[in-house]
Amino acid sequence: MINYLRFRLIDLLRGTRSFRLYRELSVSQFKSQAEVASENNFRKIALLKLAAANAAVFQGMDSTDLVSWPKMDKDTVRSDPQGFINKNYRGRRFLKKTSGSTGAPFQFESSELAQSYLWACIYLAWSAAGYRLGQPVAFLAGAALFSNTWKHKLFYRLMNVYPLSAMGMNDDAIKDHCEKLVRKKIKVLYGYSTALHTMAQYVLQNPKAVNDHSLIAVMSTSENLSMIAKRDIQNAFGVRVFNQYGCNDAGISAFECEAGEGLHIVWDRCFAEIDADGHLRGTDFANVASFFIRYDTGDLATLSHEPCKCGRAWPRITEFSGRANDLVIDLAGKKFPGAYFSNLFIGSGVKGFQVHFDECRIKILFDNQGQPFEATRLLDRLKRDMSFEHYSIVEAPFVVQANGKRRYVIKMEAVE
Ligand SMILES: [Zn+2]
Repeated sequence: MINYLRFRLIDLLRGTRSFRLYRELSVSQFKSQAEVASENNFRKIALLKLAAANAAVFQGMDSTDLVSWPKMDKDTVRSDPQGFINKNYRGRRFLKKTSGSTGAPFQFESSELAQSYLWACIYLAWSAAGYRLGQPVAFLAGAALFSNTWKHKLFYRLMNVYPLSAMGMNDDAIKDHCEKLVRKKIKVLYGYSTALHTMAQYVLQNPKAVNDHSLIAVMSTSENLSMIAKRDIQNAFGVRVFNQYGCNDAGISAFECEAGEGLHIVWDRCFAEIDADGHLRGTDFANVASFFIRYDTGDLATLSHEPCKCGRAWPRITEFSGRANDLVIDLAGKKFPGAYFSNLFIGSGVKGFQVHFDECRIKILFDNQGQPFEATRLLDRLKRDMSFEHYSIVEAPFVVQANGKRRYVIKMEAVE
């Protein structure tokens, strides 16, 4: 009961209704497929009508068939930010900023309902991993996932969330994080996959660091979870690793269920589709402050509408092949997603990798913790599969972005 009150209080202070929404979603995720599909269609039509009536760029659109609506991405919004705004929206507007994987910041207006979904979906994802409301959770992240204002600090206190910084993670910092995990009896460790992986590598070498921990699950978010990272995290903490995905501007939030066969998209909030190029696009029903329709997430994914063993009828993302701009494109124009490189390293014992490429060179950096590594076979495979003028595989430190995230593939002006 106290927990419920705490979560209600957060909503009151934040101007959201995430807690109520979370309870609604907990029920609606188990509705029948027919019911889920018909409600989704109903919401989709309502949203399209609202957009046509209230946003300059959609004026005159009279079709409620989504396929006939134009596709959009960050650049479309940047070219005419006012055009996508609901000029008649009277609710509270939240100004949201994302860093964007290319580093160029992106700003947009979000509604109270969309903001409420943001947290409701996170509670829901934790719940699928076994979390019960109010249990202690640790956030391992950079500034993008939490901020340090007094208000946020208060929210975290009320939610029983402990922020752990993913920035500058040396052994001392990780040791502190581990101590906190144990001392605070953390149930769910939630964070960026690369940061979780770094922590897991430390724990694998110092298993006593998390002796007697209370974790029930680790949940990775914001970045692709490589198979190597997943295996190491699982081995380090001895609990299951769940994946969570969110593209807030597209209205898409998805989480891995107990069945572990993909990530269910919170289907009350959006409609998701995969275009001919494999891009995941979202139509957000919740953001009625500005409209995001058939909006490109920049992620390459596969969707399934087949029923899931867990009983949830919401469609699933069954595969991520990485960020669309995380593709390596060789001299012949052939494209290779991040997953290609994950596969290269399977069974090699390598702890992590990062691919740098430019017009004519490709260089793979790997981390094998100084252990000898035979790269000839991998180099041969690369030469067989892709055409570049120079190929190299070296052990070297990775490039990390200012926000603490680490990308697997980076297109450089010039690879050194
Ligand atoms: Zn499921």
